[in-house]
Amino acid sequence: MRNGKLYWPETYLKKTYKDEIDMHYDVVVIGGGMSGALTAYRVAEAGYHTLLVDKAEIGSASSAANTGLMQYMSDKLLHECVKDFGALEAYHFYKASKEGLEDIEQLSHKLDARVNFIKRDSLFIASTKRDKKTIKDEYEALRYFDFPVDYVKQEQLKEDYGIDKYNALITHEDAEINPYVFVNEIVKYAHDHFHLDVLEHTELIKYKAGNKNVGCQFNNQTVTTDKLVMTTGYAKNKITRRYINREEFVASYAVVTEPIHENQFWKDKAMIWESARPYLYIRHVPGNRVLIGGLDEKTDKIPDEKHIQKQGKRLIKAFNKLYPELELTIEYAYGARFGETKDGKPFIGKVEGDAEIYGLYGYGGNGTVYSSFGSKLLLDMIEGKYNPLSELFKVKR
Ligand SMILES: Cc1cc2nc3c(=O)[nH]c(=O)nc-3n(C[C@H](O)[C@H](O)[C@H](O)COP(=O)(O)OP(=O)(O)OC[C@H]3O[C@@H](n4cnc5c(N)ncnc54)[C@H](O)[C@@H]3O)c2cc1C
Repeated sequence: MRNGKLYWPETYLKKTYKDEIDMHYDVVVIGGGMSGALTAYRVAEAGYHTLLVDKAEIGSASSAANTGLMQYMSDKLLHECVKDFGALEAYHFYKASKEGLEDIEQLSHKLDARVNFIKRDSLFIASTKRDKKTIKDEYEALRYFDFPVDYVKQEQLKEDYGIDKYNALITHEDAEINPYVFVNEIVKYAHDHFHLDVLEHTELIKYKAGNKNVGCQFNNQTVTTDKLVMTTGYAKNKITRRYINREEFVASYAVVTEPIHENQFWKDKAMIWESARPYLYIRHVPGNRVLIGGLDEKTDKIPDEKHIQKQGKRLIKAFNKLYPELELTIEYAYGARFGETKDGKPFIGKVEGDAEIYGLYGYGGNGTVYSSFGSKLLLDMIEGKYNPLSELFKVKR
């Protein structure tokens, strides 16, 4: 799923799992990334006897590559959503994202401080003169629906942030996080406090829905479950091909620099991204490092080391177009597979007809907040409670 030298796993020594397991569970969750960790937490907290299974280790796939920007704005802008889905659906998509972010904040309070949840503003800048209108349209749409946003004129952008571009908007109440620590800590919390068993290095080979329950065959054992939840991320294999086949993959790149001086940071250490597609994005990392990501390329191949180094240098160059004075040295560089959907919305819900098999695939730049609201939505579905969001994100659409 990824290659190169990652930063987050070096910040934390994770717990390893190999629990004694039972023959039957209320809920089995396949995949211990952000989506699986949050889903396992939600269902176990609600009292369900739950098993979380990963073919590798908890948080080790794309959740370790995740650059940890959490924003209520999506790659698909609100005014574009209004145009494509209508105002009501667009509003609910953005509202769910904002609430998903707030839920991550609440959960972070329970966890180890190394989760490093820090509230931040996001600065969204016009990459070209033509995109000035995009920024204005988006500002109007966010204001109309009462999302916390301010408009930034060209002069103010230069004066406050030292960026010589056309215009921008600032969204408030966004946040940065260490996603790898969060995923591992939320699993550890649920394992310690609720009825959650965890198996690492265990792969789901196949599943079969019967009349009474779903049979799961792993590489070394079998279990049955009332509900099966698939959260296998960007993995492409025989199992996921059964129900997910409309995603688009790219390779995405990121670098984390050596520390710089505290006073070299831009205003408020805001998270910065732009209107160009693919876009460049920048954030502060605790320890006074800078993280730069982007330069996505259309491919489903996992990038090799040589190409990662090349893209790393290009990321620094792109950063220096905004801040020419700031000299940065790369310490970590990596590339990873990243999944998007054609309509910009994640896939959440039943994956196959009436069988009790569900999926949570938070494809898109805002995957973390999708995983967050998706895990709550799945809990409602598992409990048979109607949630209108289920219509918006259903897998077959
Ligand atoms: C470079 C990069 C930067 C990103 N930056 C951001 C960001 O700043 N903000 C943001 O919100 N999102 C970001 N994302 C997206 C984010 O990483 C994903 O949305 C998120 O990690 C998805 O979590 P997941 O649980 O769906 O997948 P994963 O973390 O990939 O977890 C899936 C798990 O399923 C397991 N698995 C797969 N198949 C099986 C099987 N058959 N049996 C058992 N286990 C199985 C895998 O081992 C894996 O651990 C970024 C992604 C990349 C690649």
